Amino acid sequence: MADEAKTKTRVKDPVCGKDVDPETAEYSANYKGKVYYFDSAECKSTFNEDPDQYAT
Ligand SMILES: [Zn+2]
Repeated sequence: MADEAKTKTRVKDPVCGKDVDPETAEYSANYKGKVYYFDSAECKSTFNEDPDQYAT
């Protein structure tokens, strides 16, 4: 029953597919009005090189 309260908003790193917590994510990018979070600078730069390939 407590699972719902425990489950925080988690988003997927669109590049590598890992779960990222937006509250603690160090890397994020805004693309077409949507914010994407990444677990590493590498993923962020990969995303920025070709956002359309990863953006949902
Ligand atoms: Zn990643």
